[in-house]
Amino acid sequence: MRLLATAEAAPAPQLRDRKEIPDRFKWNLTHIFPDWPSWQAAYSELENKIGAYAALQGTLAKSPEQLLAAMKLSDEIGQLTYKVWYFASLKYDEDQRDNQINAKRQQVQILFAKASQASAWFNPELLKIPLPNVQAWMAGNADLAMYRFAIEDLYRQQEHVLDDKGERLLSLASRFNSNPNDAFSALSTADIKHPTVRLSAGDVTLTYGQYRAILATNRNQADRGLAFSEYHKVFAANGNTYAAMYNGVLQRDWFLAQARDYRSTLEAALHGNNIPPAVVENLIEATKAGTEPLRRYHRLRKRVLGLPTYHVYDATIPLIDFDRKYPYDHVLDWLQESVSPLGDAYQRELRDSLRGDYIDVYENPGKRSGAYSAPVYGVHPYMLLNYNDTLDAVFTLAHEMGHSMHTLLANAHQPFVYSAYTIFVAEVPSTLSEALFLDYMLERATDDRDRIVLLQHAIDGIVGTFFTQVLFADYELQAHRLVEEEHPVTADVLSDIYFNLLKAYHGDALDYDDLSRVTWARIPHFFSTPYYVYQYATCFASSAELMKHLRSSDERQRAAAVERYLTLLKSGGSDHPMPLLQRAGVDLGTPEPVRAVVDQFDRLVTKLEAALEHVR
Ligand SMILES: [Zn+2]
Repeated sequence: MRLLATAEAAPAPQLRDRKEIPDRFKWNLTHIFPDWPSWQAAYSELENKIGAYAALQGTLAKSPEQLLAAMKLSDEIGQLTYKVWYFASLKYDEDQRDNQINAKRQQVQILFAKASQASAWFNPELLKIPLPNVQAWMAGNADLAMYRFAIEDLYRQQEHVLDDKGERLLSLASRFNSNPNDAFSALSTADIKHPTVRLSAGDVTLTYGQYRAILATNRNQADRGLAFSEYHKVFAANGNTYAAMYNGVLQRDWFLAQARDYRSTLEAALHGNNIPPAVVENLIEATKAGTEPLRRYHRLRKRVLGLPTYHVYDATIPLIDFDRKYPYDHVLDWLQESVSPLGDAYQRELRDSLRGDYIDVYENPGKRSGAYSAPVYGVHPYMLLNYNDTLDAVFTLAHEMGHSMHTLLANAHQPFVYSAYTIFVAEVPSTLSEALFLDYMLERATDDRDRIVLLQHAIDGIVGTFFTQVLFADYELQAHRLVEEEHPVTADVLSDIYFNLLKAYHGDALDYDDLSRVTWARIPHFFSTPYYVYQYATCFASSAELMKHLRSSDERQRAAAVERYLTLLKSGGSDHPMPLLQRAGVDLGTPEPVRAVVDQFDRLVTKLEAALEHVR
């Protein structure tokens, strides 16, 4: 997935009926199942296997063979699940108006719920066997030893599992867990009263989409400023309510962390992936020390846009007008050429997956919006796009291609149990794929306007996926520490944290508006998925560090870097993210990866400055 769309305004694409789109621009789902009856047969088989798995309860402790049988059956269920789920789900995304297919998709979801009940016995039963016994079994059984990392990780996580009574209490209390976010959603979407503002070209109702569109396309600063204030006044008017709901998020996180015996909410959030809290603290510190290029970029924008004052609402308007189209067929060639630094084998594999059948390119009525890569294990990755010839669509394709290549290589080189990769690593290949594509496009750009648009796209991408996400992570950490240290949580306190961060990042490069203080109240991630967005930043930093190695002027070092990078992709989820990345040459425990981003950003701003000199 991609976190943010860029500032470009997409033209309304020409909608064609799905039947009128040539086959070579549509994915071919018969690679999964030839037809619905075959799907139904696989569905029944899956149902049987789930029943058989439930029947294994009580057998694990008997012998290594019994444990192995359960692991293998679980793998079979998992593999079949990919095909049964994605066939229905991808079909549904072709045209979401189709109720029959939607019913089949929901049928799979119901089966998933059954499967999760039917397998709930496994972890507690395994964990009752002492780890040394299981380790002795694995030492004597090569087939079972393949599962070592997966099994030992369950024991590692057990450290914070409570006794039956404690777990029962937590599961009863879990019904309150989603309450703060449910209230946030209700207040900020269902119950919100969007204001209507009078802009220079007429009245506009300020939904979030409209607000963003104004910031990205409206060249009148007074219009942008008015939209900004009216939009934020709605949140300011409910500031105390938002603060009370957010306090609910913080209290819940601290309650759960303490109940499970973690020292902090951050430690609790990172334990699943075995990430040391120092990684996030280090990310924040190193980024704060590297904000000068960010300020330089905003000063440059202020100058180029000719604005007397420069505000947060001036930060996304394009520097120049530009309406170049990027036809899909050209982009396929460019994309293949852009990955040549990764070697012939990688390039060949990518070429094969671009050939059609794998990718659903154009929009049609009812098709799901956005873009994704779907890892259909045992078949191949499929990619959904809504390609509309804009630069943003081109980079989305490069991004999703990174995900698909990761899937292809991990599936080819790992047993099923380790074929899936975690989100902590997932956005490394996607952003690296975008970076390679940018390099390629910049090299062949002959026109300064082309260059400016490419550079602004890349720079805004780093602002959005890196600087903003680290600022958010910093806010979340400081807010959670309020409750950990027993300080009051009020709207004023939260607004102070946010405003001080905004100033710490932007210094004198921004003119500050009081209403920016309330920005925290409108960020859905803060309420829905605390301590999540930092992963975009660590992935981005990792990919910047890898790009630095891939660009080395020493040929041998470059070749070694390629080898390490491909090993990372081939490793899938066979280890925790930190050691996987360390083996690829990225140590997130040091400030180096963040410095790689800051240096890269600085270079891009310098290039942008030069290109802008030429066009004026
Ligand atoms: Zn992605």
